[in-house]
Order: sequence, then C-alpha cells, then structure tokens
Amino acid sequence: MNYCATKSVVKRKGKETDETLSFTNNNNKMSHQHDLDRSGGKRLPLVSFWDLPNYMKDNEYILRYYRANWPLKEAFFSLFRWHNETLNVWTHLLGFILFLGLTLANLMKPHVVDLLQQFTRSLSSGTEKNVSDTIKDFLGAALLFDLKHQVPLKMEVEALEFVIARWPFFVFLGGSMFCLLSSSICHLFSCHSHDLNLFLLRLDYCGIAVMIITSFFPQIYYVFLCQPHWQLLYLAGITAMGLFTIVTLLSPTLSTGKHRAFRAMLFCSMGLFGIVPAVHACIVNWGNPRRNITLAYECAMAFSYLIGTLFYVTRIPERWKPGWFDLAGHSHQIFHVLVVVGALAHYAATLKLLEWRDNFGCDMV
Ligand SMILES: [Zn+2]
Repeated sequence: MNYCATKSVVKRKGKETDETLSFTNNNNKMSHQHDLDRSGGKRLPLVSFWDLPNYMKDNEYILRYYRANWPLKEAFFSLFRWHNETLNVWTHLLGFILFLGLTLANLMKPHVVDLLQQFTRSLSSGTEKNVSDTIKDFLGAALLFDLKHQVPLKMEVEALEFVIARWPFFVFLGGSMFCLLSSSICHLFSCHSHDLNLFLLRLDYCGIAVMIITSFFPQIYYVFLCQPHWQLLYLAGITAMGLFTIVTLLSPTLSTGKHRAFRAMLFCSMGLFGIVPAVHACIVNWGNPRRNITLAYECAMAFSYLIGTLFYVTRIPERWKPGWFDLAGHSHQIFHVLVVVGALAHYAATLKLLEWRDNFGCDMV
C-alpha cells in the first residue's frame, strides 16, 4: 500500500514543474507545522490547492490560503482573518450594507407614499383640514402637493393619480440585497462541507438571477407606465426567463467549475434581453431630455457587468501568474467589485427615471 502511494506521488510529481514541486514540499512542511498548532488549540490551518477535497478544486490558478472542511463557527470567524475568500466576502458584504443603507434612506425619504397613505390622505383631506395637516406632519414633506390649498375633492383625487408607485424600485433594491448577501454567505461558508458547498453555490447563482430580473422591474415599470400592455409583456417576459434560469441553475451538475462558461452565458442572455425594451424605450422617449443621462448610467451598468463577466470567465489575472493573486487581486474579486459598481449605476439611472415620472406623470416631456 505504501509502495502504491509512493508510486502515485512520484507519478504526480513527475508532471509538475520544479517550481510547483518546491512549493508542494514547503507546503507539506507548513501543513505539518499547522497541525502542531492546531493540536495546541490554535487557529485552523490554511491549505494549498493540492490539499483540497475535490469539490473545492474550482480555480487551479489560486494556489494557497484555502480553508477546507472548516466547522461553521470557524468559517464564520474567518470573516476577520486573511484567506483567499476574505475579499470575496467583504466586497459583497459591504455592497449589501451600502444597498441596505440606500433602501432605508429611500424608505424614510419624503417621497415615499404608499397606497395606504394615499388612501388615508384622500379620505381625510375631503373631511377636515386639521386631519390633513396632521398627516402632512406625519409624512414630513412627503406629499407631492400642498394640502393646505383648499382643493375640491374631485380635483385632488385626480391629482393623486400622479403619485408614482415605489414598489418596483424597492423590488430592485431587495433583489440587489438578496444577491449581495447570498454571495457573501456563499463565500464565507462554502468551505464547510460538500453538501453545504453545493447548496450555497446554487443560492449564489440564484441570487445573481434574482438581481438581474429585479433590475428590470423599475426600468420597465416606469418607462412603460403609460403603455400597460408593453409593461406587462416585458415584465412577464423577464420573469419567465429568470424563473427558467433559476430552475436550470438549481441542477447540481451545472454548479460545478466545468460549467462556468454556460452559467455566464445564461446570465448574459438574461442581461441582453434588456436590449429589446431599452431600444423600445429610446424610441418612445426620443425627445425626452432625460434620455441621455439615463442611457449613460445604463451603459455604465452594462459595461461593468460585461467586463466583470469577462474576468469571471477568463480568470485573469491569476491565470497569468498562478499564486500571485491568491489573497488579493484575483478575477472573482474584480468581478464582485464590478457587480456592485454596475448595481450602483443602475440605481442612479432608476432615480432619474423616478424623478421624471414624479414630475411629469404620463406627459412625455
Ligand atoms: Zn462570488
């Protein structure tokens, strides 16, 4: 048995370069040292690519600083320790915190008026002025027009129709937060076990699909606000496409490293679907002065996502210098940062659209 093991090691080493060999030998010494540390109750050791269980061998260009089969508690506290997933976790965790802050800021913003508030307001403004004033105080400066004006009830109800729904905006913010948080959780805990790794990878891919689908909601809703048939058609189309992608991604075989390009293609085709309503929206709003600024933000978003996907698929720069970017600067970290940048550009575009609809309703000015 020893002979077989030695033979297989010799055979394997025969294929490796001198540089790799010396690293492996050094690493074996290091692992031994770490084991001693471990028995002394110290921190769990980080291992090299060659010491990983098969299910974790995803990127052969990242050579060191892996966590393998770590208990959940240690995996959680590795949030505050340097390993090759630290920046992957933190880039999306900070992105999540940023979007959570934006969501809370928008929820507290004066213009947030939900249907219940509108209903309360239309009732009260018709009955007594004092109650209207109280609601105005309650909403801060939330109302889109001054309640102190003595407006006949009929006119006010007509004006209320121009209060633009916020839910598609919050659907996008919710989808982005779901994606960023599930990605952070996946990168933090997927070193625990094979089963959890498979589950979290699929959760991560679903998060990306959810983010893409929900990104379409505010744009389609606000641009085609006054053409409900197009609004419905595009929203139904992207939802159906997203659900198909999620169901496909839930298949365990498609979560493996071999299908990296296929997954990227699925996400890209969902993103490219957006070209149809985007071209349509440009034609419909050709004379709108806000077209260029919104379009510029959306192009920035598309550019960020495409470049990010390119890094994700090609695994540049680590493939050029394996082992050099283990801790910082590898493709997945760049991909993560570009996802957050893309989502922020989309957020800015959505704010512009909302501002336009708030001011002009269905008047295409
Ligand atoms: Zn990731």
